[in-house]
Amino acid sequence: MKNDTWGRVKQQLLEAVGRNDYANWIEPLQLKKVDNGVAHFSVPTSFMANWVSRNFADQILMHLKASKVPASRVDFKVEVARPAQDAPTEATAAPVEQTSALATSTPEVEVADLPSAPLDARFTFDNFVVGKPNELAHAAARRVGEGGPVTFNPLFLYGGVGLGKTHLMHAIAHEIKQRDPEARVLYLSAEQFMYRFVQALRDRQMMDFKQLFRSVDVLMVDDVQFIAGKDSTQEEFFHTFNALVDQGKQIIISADRAPGEIKDLEDRIKSRLQCGLVVDLHPTDYELRLGILQTKAENYRTQYPGLVFAEGVLEFLAHRITTNVRVLEGALMRLFAFASLVGREITMDLAQECLADILKASDRKVTVEEIQRRVSEHYSIRLSDMIGPKRVRVIARPRQVAMYLSKQLTSRSLPEIGRRFGGRDHTTVMHGVRRIEELQTTDSQMFEDVEMLRRALEG
Ligand code: ADP
Ligand code: MG
Repeated sequence: MKNDTWGRVKQQLLEAVGRNDYANWIEPLQLKKVDNGVAHFSVPTSFMANWVSRNFADQILMHLKASKVPASRVDFKVEVARPAQDAPTEATAAPVEQTSALATSTPEVEVADLPSAPLDARFTFDNFVVGKPNELAHAAARRVGEGGPVTFNPLFLYGGVGLGKTHLMHAIAHEIKQRDPEARVLYLSAEQFMYRFVQALRDRQMMDFKQLFRSVDVLMVDDVQFIAGKDSTQEEFFHTFNALVDQGKQIIISADRAPGEIKDLEDRIKSRLQCGLVVDLHPTDYELRLGILQTKAENYRTQYPGLVFAEGVLEFLAHRITTNVRVLEGALMRLFAFASLVGREITMDLAQECLADILKASDRKVTVEEIQRRVSEHYSIRLSDMIGPKRVRVIARPRQVAMYLSKQLTSRSLPEIGRRFGGRDHTTVMHGVRRIEELQTTDSQMFEDVEMLRRALEG
């Protein structure tokens, strides 16, 4: 495989796992070779090798396959670049700020030293643009940020990548601290929670760990889906959670899906998470994207007063870049950087030229045929059965999934889709689409299948 292919796959993984995970776990991987269907990677430590193969192997494989790399398995081998070290391997893999926070959490340090993950100063309520898709989440976050008696506990925010969950959580933390500088607010990702827990176990500092987590006023755990399937971490999380709720302390949790949809999360935790207020961030719509672009462009303009947008450029971007807000922001940032370098007005031509790759990526047209092929591969049925007459469930269900994805990912109308599925009626397509919509909310396997297929098709 060519190196640039791995480069591209890494880029997709960055999108898929987020900056933190990417920096910690993906970036250090080196692809050595692809041989007999096995992609061989070298990693710096055995801790990493374990971790990555347990937590990221599937995703890596999926993205490799999506880029047509002939791999059906991944393998991670430790290759020590420097002379062997005695230092705990975990410390190597951990983000720097965690290591230092942990290093100081010895008994003589007061509990006051909260090892909160750093908050992004830009993630405030002022900088959050409210639209239909996020107004409920925003209102709930605002309410919790006001402090006072705890009304809903926990506040559970969920939604897809880049829709503003982390932004809202940081905004709550800023707000609470501003109103009450003494408030002990602990914000961290579920992964960091686990990491601290493992470290405390290893260093026999569980008492300190428990004391620390039970001493906060507000606990925020981001991306909680991460602890699914990790039994002892879940157990500890559950106890921490209960202890804080009993003390009337506020808890705020985020995840990429609703509590009930998180696979391998203990039922008692699911039901605990559902006890408070559960709100979701919907995918952005055109108005929200435009609003975000206008607000951000306004901010940039205070830095580069000379720069102006030609008529229609922002509308064009809001229309064309629909993936997530992070991508939208990246596009705008690039435009400003470019325009400030060349000192030109930001015209439509400039935008198209400078953002060609982003536009092309979001432009990728998926075809119904491609969807049928992917879906039949996924469910191991024959492609011809997609358009054939069979009605047994093992065939009919995948067919409905393909119809659903065709509706979602292409601009084809229901009758057009029906024609491509062996001349079926548009009502049949509509029924299929509805069925899959329903199933996704009740059947987590279906949810996962559809998500995976969607990502593979869009990737
Ligand atoms: P998530 O945690 O849901 O994956 P983030 O909170 O990290 O997403 O948001 C991704 C980026 O998009 C951040 O830079 C954030 O500031 C920005 N963003 C998302 N939604 C909004 C919004 N409604 N208004 C302004 N910026 C937003
Ligand atoms: Mg986030």
